[in-house]
Amino acid sequence: MADRYLSFTATAPGRFLTARLGLPQPAALSRWTAERPSLEGHLLHLTAGGPSGLDLAPVLARTGLPTATETAGTTTGSTGGSTTGSTGPAAVVLDATGVRDVDTLAEVHAALHPVVRSVAASGRVVVLGAPLDTRDHHQAAVQQALEGFVRSLGKEIGRGRTVNLVRLSDASAAESTLRFLLSPKSAYVSGQVIGVGAAEGPDGPVDWTLPLAGRTALVTGAARGIGEAVAETLARDGAHVVVLDVPQAAEDARRVAARLGGSALTLDITAADAGERIAAELPDGLDVLIHNAGITRDRRLVNMPAERWSSVLDVNLASVLRTTDALLAKGALRTGGRIVATASIAGLAGNAGQTNYGASKAGVAGLVRSLAPRALAEHGVTVNAVAPGFIETKMTAAVPLFIREAGRRMNSLAQGGLPVDVAETTAWLAHPASGSVNGQVVRVCGQSLLGA
Ligand code: NAD
Repeated sequence: MADRYLSFTATAPGRFLTARLGLPQPAALSRWTAERPSLEGHLLHLTAGGPSGLDLAPVLARTGLPTATETAGTTTGSTGGSTTGSTGPAAVVLDATGVRDVDTLAEVHAALHPVVRSVAASGRVVVLGAPLDTRDHHQAAVQQALEGFVRSLGKEIGRGRTVNLVRLSDASAAESTLRFLLSPKSAYVSGQVIGVGAAEGPDGPVDWTLPLAGRTALVTGAARGIGEAVAETLARDGAHVVVLDVPQAAEDARRVAARLGGSALTLDITAADAGERIAAELPDGLDVLIHNAGITRDRRLVNMPAERWSSVLDVNLASVLRTTDALLAKGALRTGGRIVATASIAGLAGNAGQTNYGASKAGVAGLVRSLAPRALAEHGVTVNAVAPGFIETKMTAAVPLFIREAGRRMNSLAQGGLPVDVAETTAWLAHPASGSVNGQVVRVCGQSLLGA
């Protein structure tokens, strides 16, 4: 169901009325299209806490945005055409990795205070932080302080602009992450803290236009909804996509597969031998495994029969554990492989009526955090999760109007996300250049007010 409130606030009378009544004023978000693949405007590169050891400039230059660097109040264009002038930046990257104490933390304020107002609508603020130093509690304190800073700025910045924190120690290892966050693909990702580890580069050069060319991706529950969008986005990025869904959805799965030039696999993912059946279907192995299939069977715990509990735990968690174990044990995931599971903010924040669902989705986050280092060390495979917030799907269209409206507005962007927002985040995690992103649970929720 269309978000009529969002359309209304895009009109002049709508803007006037909602401003007078103090109601939320969501901005229409700019999302990726083939015609407009980048943000429009320049990127302002700022530093706080002194020069960092990061070799950031070449990586930022490769985002395609003309870069301006600010030192002591002067702005100089470093790449591309005109970068200054009356229009504000489309993106600001603040390198705060050198911030080690409360005095230098003040440079974060000094750097962003004068420019935040001028950041373009649907623009990006990305703060770069260092890993917390366990031997220096002053450094750890102020680097942790950046999280509270970023999450607070995300809640006040408005106009469809997003604010995220990336913790890194190597700029080139973070290239896919910075490209994602500094593009329209991350329109609904805000208030996130993303850890990027050491470089785990792909063997060959990266094709940034068709990164998944020659790779096979399997998406569970891809006959409709978010899974369909994920399949479509991975196919856009060049993957051969296997659309897996239950027998009842076989016709839709075949339709999606045919549209994307992929193949369909009819299988209930809860089958005890699901992993073996997938491996048999793909004798050459696979590169990307997306655990998207999920169900809800809501009831408060006092009214919840055991069957509702077990069916949700089986689809959302047990089958994810079983198929992951089986495919890793068989060596079916090729080196450089990617596993992306689907959690939910309901698993992070909890939700009345969803003890089963919340437990299953929190379980997904636990699986990711525990398995990620071992899967990378033993199989060369990363394991991450996306945690969607309120996404406009058939599922959420069926939610009663009042609850649906609350779900849509209770986030910093004051609107629901689209399936493609989850899909773009998944595609970034599945990217061959994202090998240094591992064990992360990334919320795609417009910075929902619920949960951490
Ligand atoms: P959806 O119900 O529209 O689609 C789910 C798909 O999974 C369906 O095609 C269904 O047939 C398939 N499926 C269910 N059980 C299966 C099984 N046993 N084996 C194989 N396929 C199975 O749901 P959606 O809204 O697109 O959600 C996709 C994922 O995102 C789910 O894991 C869901 O929990 C999660 N999620 C959704 C939202 C949201 O707002 N829509 C929010 C948070 C998390």
